[in-house]
Amino acid sequence: MTALLAGKNGLVFGVANHRSIAWAIAEAAHRHGARVGVSYFGERLERRVVPLAAQIDAPFCIPCDVSDDADLDACFAAAAEAFDGRLDFVVHGVAFAQRDDLLNRFNLTSRAGHALAMDVSAYSLTAMARRAAPLMTEGGALLTLTYYGAEKVIPRYNVMGVAKAALEAGVRYLAADLGPDGVRVNGISAGPIKTLAASGIPGFRKMLGQAGEIAPLRRTVDQAEVADAAVFLLSDMARGITGEVLHVDAGQNIMGAPPLAD
Ligand code: NAD
Repeated sequence: MTALLAGKNGLVFGVANHRSIAWAIAEAAHRHGARVGVSYFGERLERRVVPLAAQIDAPFCIPCDVSDDADLDACFAAAAEAFDGRLDFVVHGVAFAQRDDLLNRFNLTSRAGHALAMDVSAYSLTAMARRAAPLMTEGGALLTLTYYGAEKVIPRYNVMGVAKAALEAGVRYLAADLGPDGVRVNGISAGPIKTLAASGIPGFRKMLGQAGEIAPLRRTVDQAEVADAAVFLLSDMARGITGEVLHVDAGQNIMGAPPLAD
């Protein structure tokens, strides 16, 4: 296997447990030769995440609420210290919306719920970029995770779809501003995968079943498939790609109507 990330230093946000897409990316990046620091949300997850971080010899594993500037500062300071001031990539694998805002009709979304979803799920990428760019002294790559609900209406995705649309626009604006410094910014639009965050979406099981029926590959994707694409986008193999959202969804997004019976 060619180690696509040999010698690179990365920071991964969004590991909650072994099912997290961010965990699959952290593991794959480590397998490809990167040193990977891990950040997780809150003490509650410490028991699960610390042993995972140990499996990939993470140089640090620290809590961070991405809606808290002081937490983010501490996290990037830890990365700067562990990596002697040079960071090569950041993976943004975090999102949150209040359950009521997913259960209710979208027109009932509260101001506070909207602001929270936007802050944690969209602005946090910019908050990370502000801190990462100065450490990307030899260029670098930022990668986020998004979903088709940013492009089309997915019932019950609601405010999260609006936040993902902002996130995807953020990818493009960040890519334009950081490109001259050699920093690339991309997203992966993953098909539905059973994770902790996904289980908070009402009717997720149905979404998963439908995706597998609609997708040209007639199946859904798994964390490892997203992680492989992530390694590519973080690596120098993707040095000519920025501002892009790559669908890793077994092709589901190209379909304008469900297939006729096979
Ligand atoms: P997950 O629950 O494992 O990951 C979501 C992460 O967000 C968790 O680690 C959680 O702790 C973190 N988080 C929430 N609020 C936070 C905060 N304030 N500060 C820091 N971290 C916070 O689920 P996942 O499915 O692996 O989600 C990762 C990303 O992939 C999310 O952006 C999600 O929207 C996206 N995504 C998921 C799917 C899917 O079907 N699972 C599909 C497309 C995109």
